Amino acid sequence: MTKKKLAIIGNGMGTCRLLDELATRGAAFQYDISVFGEEQGGAYNRIMLGKVLAGGAPADIVTKPPEWYDRHNIRLIDRTRVTKLDTLRKLVETEDGQARAYDVAVLATGSQPLVPPLEGMNDENGELKPGIFVYRTIGDCMRMRERVRSGDSAIVVGGGLLGLEAAKVLSDRGLHVTVVQLRKTLMNAQLDEIGGEMLERQIERAGIFVRTGRTVEAVYADEVVKGVFLDDGTTRPADIVILACGVRPRIDVAKASGLPVNRGIIVNDALATEVPSVYAFGECAEHAGKTYGIVTPVWEQAAVLADVLTGSNPGVRYRGSKLYTRLKVAGIEVASMGTTEPERETDEVLQIVEERKNAYRKLVVRDGRLVGAILVGNTSAAGTLVQLFDRGDLLPADPLELLCATAPADPATRVVCNCNKVTEGQLCEAIAQGADSVEALGVVTKAGTGCGSCKSELGQLLVRAANKTSLPLVATG
Ligand SMILES: Cc1cc2nc3c(=O)[nH]c(=O)nc-3n(C[C@H](O)[C@H](O)[C@H](O)COP(=O)(O)OP(=O)(O)OC[C@H]3O[C@@H](n4cnc5c(N)ncnc54)[C@H](O)[C@@H]3O)c2cc1C
Repeated sequence: MTKKKLAIIGNGMGTCRLLDELATRGAAFQYDISVFGEEQGGAYNRIMLGKVLAGGAPADIVTKPPEWYDRHNIRLIDRTRVTKLDTLRKLVETEDGQARAYDVAVLATGSQPLVPPLEGMNDENGELKPGIFVYRTIGDCMRMRERVRSGDSAIVVGGGLLGLEAAKVLSDRGLHVTVVQLRKTLMNAQLDEIGGEMLERQIERAGIFVRTGRTVEAVYADEVVKGVFLDDGTTRPADIVILACGVRPRIDVAKASGLPVNRGIIVNDALATEVPSVYAFGECAEHAGKTYGIVTPVWEQAAVLADVLTGSNPGVRYRGSKLYTRLKVAGIEVASMGTTEPERETDEVLQIVEERKNAYRKLVVRDGRLVGAILVGNTSAAGTLVQLFDRGDLLPADPLELLCATAPADPATRVVCNCNKVTEGQLCEAIAQGADSVEALGVVTKAGTGCGSCKSELGQLLVRAANKTSLPLVATG
């Protein structure tokens, strides 16, 4: 049987997972796979960009080096931007004027940073002036790294997850950092006002200045950036300005190809677009009116799409994802899931506020089940809560017990890696089967391959297992 040509547009975190999912389903027998990527080289863990910004080697966050594609007979066409799919002739058109045939195409073009139109920020070619950056790619991080010197000052526009992460990295590199946040409180998409205020105090304690309820109106720059004008009439000198104002799905290829789009590329429960043989998933896709900006939904979609493309699980459907976010800023603990406020009259809210400790915990309960939680300053209950939230399990009669639990959660079912939903039970099983390092646990269970915040716990599990059996340890990560 002749193989079909599968063209995947975009080589980001979604594609990286899709390729793994396809490999486990033996897709190589059905498809000749080509991956088109605008960035250079193989896929990398975008979530770990902070490490590169902090000075780490880009290679350390690469999850699929070019050799991986060769070994799997996958054609990687990197540094090549796709401009359009000719859906009638079934051709992938690229910026270099080439057209390559496909039978099935998958759009995985991700998101792009939202760039607010600030006066004075563009040069005559419409490019951002030197010193003004977005934070999305290895290239962005390397350009920022070349520019910043300790003692410089930075303005971060946007007090969400990415803005705070960038602010902490730059502050750790010795810069004077101010975060300017338009909304009244930080991380307003994931936290309520009390949570946002607690977080602000912690961020300020870490040496970062915060201006909430304010925005940057214009950039003061000649050849390079020199400072910003805020909307309260004040100015701030700045050597660099980082725009972390959110993202929007990249739908340019879809639009040029005549696919139905809204905010994202519209897909159904099989991740199919309205045009036959064209699928979309990840941050570029819009499913049931929703687009996503974190990786777990993207990976859940990748698994469904691999089933659909290989026909290995007929009738499989993607039904949407439940959202869980964690701030990856060392020393500042923040986790949030589901809704941040009650949405129905009958929703019950339980809160513990510890003013002196800047700690805050909140649960939103609906019909005895958890529909939302906020944890700032104390995230010890996060693992248990995520599991209850994810499965929709009934809560104990007094849900506050969850926040003040003294007995540890059942290890068999306690989720250790939230990005990949890996339980302690699965990890212990993998260790018993011979996984003897954090890396090996990642290969076997995928734990630790997302945001990486569980890696130290993986190390602890390995040490505990080694102590029990006196086995030698290879590495603890
Ligand atoms: C700094 C940072 C920190 C983050 N931290 C977290 C976190 O802690 N937790 C979390 O869950 N998520 C986090 N995220 C979000 C996470 O990285 C995304 O959810 C994930 O990368 C989405 O995967 P994707 O494949 O849809 O898109 P992407 O990973 O963005 O990949 C899309 C790829 O397609 C390429 N592309 C686009 N258009 C074309 C074209 N026309 N031709 C060729 N190639 C094209 C792009 O260049 C890109 O490489 C973070 C993101 C950033 C930037």
